[in-house]
Amino acid sequence: MSNKTKDTGEQMSHPPAQDIQKAAASQVQEPEKETPQVARSVGGNAASAKISRQKAKPEPAAITAPLGEIPEGHQRQRKGTATTTVAGVEVTFKPDSKRKKGDKADTKTSVNLDWSLPGAATKGDKVVEVRSVAPVTMTIQTAYAQGQNAALNSAYGRGTTPSDARAGDSSLGFHEGRHAMDYLQYLRDHPLPQFQGQAGMSVQEYTRAQQDYDKAMNTYLADMKRKSFLDTDCVGTPHKDCP
Ligand SMILES: [Zn+2]
Repeated sequence: MSNKTKDTGEQMSHPPAQDIQKAAASQVQEPEKETPQVARSVGGNAASAKISRQKAKPEPAAITAPLGEIPEGHQRQRKGTATTTVAGVEVTFKPDSKRKKGDKADTKTSVNLDWSLPGAATKGDKVVEVRSVAPVTMTIQTAYAQGQNAALNSAYGRGTTPSDARAGDSSLGFHEGRHAMDYLQYLRDHPLPQFQGQAGMSVQEYTRAQQDYDKAMNTYLADMKRKSFLDTDCVGTPHKDCP
């Protein structure tokens, strides 16, 4: 329940308008090669040729979520994550991961919310001051099953509807990207639960407010996942667990 996802690395601004093309281009780009630079001085001999290696710029780590589609824009961090702020919530996209050998879990784009329960200063049985806590944050990451990747065809849900077929959007990467966009849309459409604890409450009332808030946040997260499941997995060819 702590905030561990703050990025402090160097930030690069990406204007959203150009980004769709950039993101598309970066997927097909070959990794930059290390190019040895050879400096020769006129009249010198071979032994004096200096070779200096330029440090290759690493390619940004692959993130399946279509970052260029985020109207709020986004920033890439040096360590590979991307961040945006949607409805006041800082969202971090972690680079795609690959499931380990033997892990039978399906490809999945997971979402997590990170929240804290505000503590309080008390006097006797009364709360006198509510401590402030770090704001709620969200983390999104796509994990590919063994033997799967973004280019494969999606077996169900988005990617299998007639309109997706017409648009040429049939890949697993497209499908997983829909989940990421679902989560952001849920944030925009549904305000986060607000902590109701306040000064003047009895300690018992305050403890109850903490429990209620925790429960409301868990429910919010579960509802967000459920909506994404229905919208992205239960259309076209539906997932086997669809209602
Ligand atoms: Zn799905």
